[in-house]
Parts: sequence; structure tokens; C-alpha cells
Amino acid sequence: GGDRELLLNGIRDVPDHPKPGVVFKDITPLLADPRAFSVLTDALAAAVTRHGATAVAGLEARGFILAAPAALRAGVGFVPVRKAGKLPGETVGESYELEYGTAEVELHADATGPGDRVLVIDDVLATGGTAEASVRLIRRTGAEVVGVTVLLELGFLGGRERLLETLDGTPLESL
Ligand code: IMP
Repeated sequence: GGDRELLLNGIRDVPDHPKPGVVFKDITPLLADPRAFSVLTDALAAAVTRHGATAVAGLEARGFILAAPAALRAGVGFVPVRKAGKLPGETVGESYELEYGTAEVELHADATGPGDRVLVIDDVLATGGTAEASVRLIRRTGAEVVGVTVLLELGFLGGRERLLETLDGTPLESL
């Protein structure tokens, strides 16, 4: 439909970013178009409501931009999952494998906990490592992850398969 077109038109391919051979999906045109951004926010807010989420976790950095307005529109709180060393308070961390080396995501230890139903939002699912570590992290605080919603997934990287194993029945949706 028209909404799908509006979203697709807002995503451009940037070849050789961040390194040669990689085609980067750039969502900045979508963010610059208030109609497309609003359609996206509505779709994400609908996912929040549909899953009965009580909080939205956005993954640094573009996940913040998508998750915050969706949380606000759905009437629930926003929680940042950040790269290691950025959050000021007491944190819990979870590391994951990259092609070369490891990375770590962190969450404030008191940001989520038992009784919370958290929807994880990010822009792009690539290898699935970031989302998988974020799900494990949120679960470790005692909260329930009720879903992972992304704008788009790069199917050829196998992120869905990797993440579904960890999700174990929890839905993964890409818009
Ligand atoms: P993953 O951990 O390999 O799934 O990588 C996902 C993370 O990297 C997300 O936080 C994305 O924002 C970012 N990412 C990876 N590839 C792209 C891309 O092509 N466009 C935008 N973000 C990307």
C-alpha cells in the first residue's frame, strides 16, 4: 500500500559504507519526511499496544530515534540500551561477537525489572547480534521481552534465524 511505499522511498542504499563492499541502508531521508516518519511511528506505536508492552527499549543510536516517539505515542516509557560506557548509573552489560572482536551493550540496572513487558525497537536487523544481546540483557533484569520490532531486516545476514533461537517464541517483526 501507500504506507509501505512511503517507508521504502525513505530508505536509500549507500554503497561502501562504513567500509568497501558494504551497502548501508540509510534511513535519514525517512526521518526528514514528516509523513513517512509519522507513518513509521504509528506502526511502531501499534506494535507497542498490540504486544501489551509497558516499556520500549531503543537500541543506540538509530533505535533511539524510532523508539522514543513510538513509546510516547503509545503512552509508555522509553529505555535506552547503549554501547558500553555511556550510561551514567549502575549498569548491567552483555557482550556479543562481531566479525572481528566483541561489542557490549548496557542497560541501567533499574531501567527494567520483574513485571515489565518490554518491546525492543531498532532500525535495522543485520547479523542480529545487537538485538540478541539486548534481549538477553533485558531478561536478566527480570523483565519480559514481548517482542522485537525493526524497520527492516537484511535477510541475507541470517539475523532472523539467530535471533529467533534466543527469542524462543517471542515475536520478531520487521515493518
Ligand atoms: P547487527 O548487530 O549485526 O544486527 O547490527 C545491527 C546494528 O547495526 C543496528 O543497531 C543497526 O542500527 C546497525 N546497522 C547494521 N547495518 C546497518 C545498515 O545497513 N543501516 C543502518 N544500520 C545498520
